Amino acid sequence: MKEKGSISIHTENIFPIIKKFLYSDNEIFLRELVSNAVDAVQKIKRLAALGQFNGEIGEPLVEVAVNKEAKTITISDNGLGMTADEIKKYINQVAFSGASEFVEKFKDAKDANEIIGKFGLGFYSAFMVADLVEIDTLSYQENAEPAKWVCDGSTEFEISEGSRSTRGTTITLHINADSEEFLESFKLQEILDKYGKFLPIPIQFGTKSIQEEDGKDADGKTQYKSVEVPNIINTTSPIWTKSPTDLTDNDYLDFYKQLYPFAEDPLFWIHLNVDYPFNLTGVLYFPKLKDDFDFQRNKIKLFSRQVFITDEVKDIVPEFLMLLHGVIDSPDIPLNVSRSFLQADSNVKKINNYITKKVADKLDELFKKDRKAYEDKWNDIGLFVKYGMVSEEKFYEKAKDFALVENTENVFFTLNEYKDKVSPLQTDKNGNVVYLYATDPTTQDTFIQSAKKKDYDVLLLNTPIDTHFVNQMEQKLEKTLLKRVDSGLADKLIEKDEKTESVLSEEESGKIKALFEKVITKPGYTVEVEGYHPEELPVTVSMDEFMRRMKDMAK
Ligand code: ADP
Ligand code: MG
Repeated sequence: MKEKGSISIHTENIFPIIKKFLYSDNEIFLRELVSNAVDAVQKIKRLAALGQFNGEIGEPLVEVAVNKEAKTITISDNGLGMTADEIKKYINQVAFSGASEFVEKFKDAKDANEIIGKFGLGFYSAFMVADLVEIDTLSYQENAEPAKWVCDGSTEFEISEGSRSTRGTTITLHINADSEEFLESFKLQEILDKYGKFLPIPIQFGTKSIQEEDGKDADGKTQYKSVEVPNIINTTSPIWTKSPTDLTDNDYLDFYKQLYPFAEDPLFWIHLNVDYPFNLTGVLYFPKLKDDFDFQRNKIKLFSRQVFITDEVKDIVPEFLMLLHGVIDSPDIPLNVSRSFLQADSNVKKINNYITKKVADKLDELFKKDRKAYEDKWNDIGLFVKYGMVSEEKFYEKAKDFALVENTENVFFTLNEYKDKVSPLQTDKNGNVVYLYATDPTTQDTFIQSAKKKDYDVLLLNTPIDTHFVNQMEQKLEKTLLKRVDSGLADKLIEKDEKTESVLSEEESGKIKALFEKVITKPGYTVEVEGYHPEELPVTVSMDEFMRRMKDMAK
């Protein structure tokens, strides 16, 4: 059997175009071919589960191999395989209406992800790195004949009898001169690690040597020997695919270490799991934040059915959540379209809201469960919560109940608690509650002390995000003003209505004035009034100043 044919697209030669547009990201050929192999293995498992295949499945395995001399890379699987007819159907019909439309749409494309997948070009990404591609396959179907497909990157292909004797598919890429870097094992290992670390079917890439116990020597010391074992590059059941009830804290911490080997332990984590109205799983970790936010962004890894896609999660998670670490896996996030489309996509919006809500719920739970522990973590969580509150309306609404403020005595309050605490004394003549705050407790210490002397409370708002947080509180909290403690003399910080303030009648103050005038204004005299501390009085004060202090004391 030998058959020649033409791949059904309208333009003479699509592959130079594919190559040109996809070149920047050409390593994803491996992601695409390995994903196809994984799909094929999962399909045969499913067929078996449905009773539509009764043969032996065998140990599911995908093997990647490189032959530097022959300049080939092979990807083999023991999946469901294809018949010659299926090759024609699935491979030859490049899944788009015409190359001209393709070229028109993507002549400005920057990102290969925008093209691959959406147009069913997954398999054809092989031509980014190969100038000849062979498919050797044997279908699971009864009496299937092995089939072989060869294509040199023109629209001509050839189908002939294949050589596979076991079920599955082998793809052989004859690597082109420009892509010989991919013939280096370390390079392939790197790409496999990047995209395939958590694929659901074991992926073998060569072998590796490990040390194995080999009895004991004369002194009773354990001896080791090197043995070659298959080099399986992936963990097939990463924790986000499991149920939280089957996982321990250590499982979560180990996984975190695996993702970020150099990071400090996270503060806590959230296991995401939703299947309606969209599908999404994942684990998000709260890292210990440093002031340098930018450095810590883009740590969330996005997967689609356990295939790594990107760590550019901008537009998928709200801005402030980009400070979190971890993984999100969703087959429902459209990965192959442009940014602007992504922002408008309703699934993406729902996912956004869902994650925001989950994060808020988790914080609320921690706050309610153990307030003390929550306060102890506040230094780390606080930055994040405040950042969320200033940048995301929806989050503010939830977070206002578990956001804390700390005063200069290091006592924590919720926003409501704080309002209740300071309202009686710190309400001004217009009925506004005035919150005083320090941005630098050391240099502002004198001001803090004078405010405290008046029994005012002073908040500590000294982190980089606090300038924005202060603005936010002024906007959101009703009849509330925030004033920096050093923005005026203690007496002027909270404007009181003089008339209602005065405890002395005109006549009384006249008398007192007369009584003290001589004493106070003469150097060297002290005055003792109950509750008043003479040492604070300068040797000489003006009568006005004295009267003012008397009034304050009487309050
Ligand atoms: P997609 O994976 O999005 O369907 P591809 O271009 O990657 O698009 O693959 C096209 C089709 O070719 C697949 O849907 C599948 O039917 C078939 N195919 C590709 N690789 C294999 C394989 N290793 N085993 C069986 N079928 C395969
Ligand atoms: Mg594919």
